[in-house]
Amino acid sequence: DEPTESLIDMLDASVKKYGRRTALEFFGAETSYDELAEQVARAAEGLRRLGVTKGDRVAIVLPNCPQHVAAFYAVLRLGAIVIEHNPLYTARELRHQFEDHGATVAIVWDKTHDAVSAFPNDLPLKKIISVDMTTALPLGKRVALRLPIKKARETRASMTATPAARRVFTWEKLIDGPRILRKRPRPSVDDVAVLQYTSGTTGTPKGAILTHGNLRANAAQGQAWVPGLKLGKETFYGVLPLFHAYGLTLCLTVAMSIGAKLVLFPKFDVTMVLDAAKKSPPTFLPAVPPIYDALTRVSKRRRAGLSHIRFAISGAMSLPVATVERWEEASGGLLVEGYGMTETSPLAVGNPMGPSRRPGTVGVPFPSTEIRVVDPENPEVDRHEGEAGELLLRGPQVFQGYWNRPDETAATLLADGWLRTGDIVTVSPDGYVSVIDRIKELIITGGFNVSPSEVEEVLTSHPDVDAAAVVGIRRASGTEDVSAAVVAREGATLDTEALREFARTKLTAYKVPKKIVVLDELPRSLVGKVERRKVRDILVARKD
Ligand code: ATP
Ligand code: MG
Repeated sequence: DEPTESLIDMLDASVKKYGRRTALEFFGAETSYDELAEQVARAAEGLRRLGVTKGDRVAIVLPNCPQHVAAFYAVLRLGAIVIEHNPLYTARELRHQFEDHGATVAIVWDKTHDAVSAFPNDLPLKKIISVDMTTALPLGKRVALRLPIKKARETRASMTATPAARRVFTWEKLIDGPRILRKRPRPSVDDVAVLQYTSGTTGTPKGAILTHGNLRANAAQGQAWVPGLKLGKETFYGVLPLFHAYGLTLCLTVAMSIGAKLVLFPKFDVTMVLDAAKKSPPTFLPAVPPIYDALTRVSKRRRAGLSHIRFAISGAMSLPVATVERWEEASGGLLVEGYGMTETSPLAVGNPMGPSRRPGTVGVPFPSTEIRVVDPENPEVDRHEGEAGELLLRGPQVFQGYWNRPDETAATLLADGWLRTGDIVTVSPDGYVSVIDRIKELIITGGFNVSPSEVEEVLTSHPDVDAAAVVGIRRASGTEDVSAAVVAREGATLDTEALREFARTKLTAYKVPKKIVVLDELPRSLVGKVERRKVRDILVARKD
C-alpha cells in the first residue's frame, strides 16, 4: 500500500468531491473547499513570482488559522518544502532554526514578524510575508488572542539587520493576483514535503525530512485507525498546533483527505472550544491528556456541545487510565491512545477504536508498520518475547533522515530501513505495546538504572500528589541523584519528608528521590509534554 498521490493530488481530489462544503472554520467564519483551493492557487502564484521554485525551503511561523492552511498547501503546490515553526518561540530559538534550515522566504504571524525581520543580515532569509490572522475573522468580530509572547528584550538584542536587508509583503498582497496555471509542474510522491522539527525534549530540535509519500501514507493509516469516519460529514477540532507533526497529520491532512470541516484554534482555550461547539459541535478530537482533563472538569451543562465527539485520540505522551475513565464517563465516547514521533509522520502504533482497545497500552502497530524490540546497546539483537527493550519501527511513514545531521541520521535510521525510536517498550504476547521510558531519560545512580516513570507512578499514587516529574541530577562524581518535582492536588498541602517516607515503603532505597521539590505546576511544552530539562534546571537551582 505505497501511496501514489502527493498531498496536492489529495487536496485536489477533495476539492473536486467536496467543493462547496466547509473545509475550515475560524471563530465562525467558514472557508469552503473551493475557496481554499482558490486561496492556495493564488498564494502559490504569488510565491512563484517571489521566486519560490521546486525544492526551495519556505518557513511558516503561524498559529492555527485559515491562512496557515492556505500557505501550507501553496508552498507544496510549487514542489517547495514547508518548514513549520512554533510562533511563540523566542527570537533566539527561531534564529537557531532559521540558521539550520536556511529558508529564503518566510510566512510569518505579524506578532512574530519583528523578531524574524531582525535576524542578522547573513541569514539567507530574504523575503517575509506578514500575516494578520484577524483578517480571517468574521466581519465585526473581535477576539482577544492572548498568546504569551514575551520576546521584547530578546528581539532588541538580535536587532542587527539593516532595514533594507529584507523585503516584506502582506498576505493580502500575496494572494491579490492570478491563480497558478494548471500546467505548472506539481510535486510527486517522492518529493520532500516538510522538514518537521522534533519537540526538542532530549536536545536541540532536529529537522525530520518527510516526503509527500510519508505524510500521505500516514494520513491513510490514521484514517484506517478510525473506521467509523464518515466522508464529508465529520467536524475535526484543531486544538493541537499545526506546527507539530501530530496536529499536522491528524488534524489537517486526515481532515482534508476525508472532506471534514476543520475548526481551527490558535491556541487551546476551554471557553473558545465551548463557544465554537455551539455552532459546529466536534465529532473528532485529537488532543493530549491535559486537554481532556480540562474539558472533563467543565460542568455537564456547559459541555453539552461536546457530546457528539465519537472519537477522541491522545498521543505525544502517556495517557493516564484515570483520564480515560473520567473522559469516557463524562462524554460517552471513546478515548484511545496512540504512539508516534515526528520521524514517523507521526503515527506508528495505536489502540484499536473499539472493544479490543487496552487502556494503559499504546495499542498495536498501524497497518504496514513492522516493529522489533531490541537490545539498546546492540540493536542487532532482538529481545526475548515480553522482555523490555528499544522499539524499532519500519513502514511507509518512516522519515528520510535529519536535515544537516548525517551522524544523527546514521545513528537513528538503520541501513535496512529500521528506525530507532529511543523508547523502551514491552510487547504483550498478543502484540500490545507499552511505552516505559525514553532511553535518554533513564537515570543512572551508583551503577543502577532507575526508570523515571516507575518513580513517577509511585509518587502520583499518593493521594495528595497531582503530578510528578522525576529526573537525574548529575553530581561531580558522575553519578546521578534521583530527584523529583511534584505538584499537590488542589486543596492539599504536601510534606516532602512524608512523601519520601511513602516512596520508601514502595521502592528500593536507590530509587527513592533524594530531593523532592513542590511546584505550582510542571513546565510543559505547547503540546503539553513535561519539559524535563526545565524541571532539571529548576531542581538544580532550588536549594531546599
Ligand atoms: P526530541 O526528539 O527532539 O528529543 P521528542 O522526541 O519529544 O523530542 P516528538 O517527535 O514530538 O519529539 O515526540 C516523540 C516522542 O514522544 C516519542 O519518542 C516518545 O518518547 C513520546 N511519545 C509519543 N507518544 C507517546 C505515548 N503515547 N506515550 C508515551 N510517550 C509517547
Ligand atoms: Mg524524539
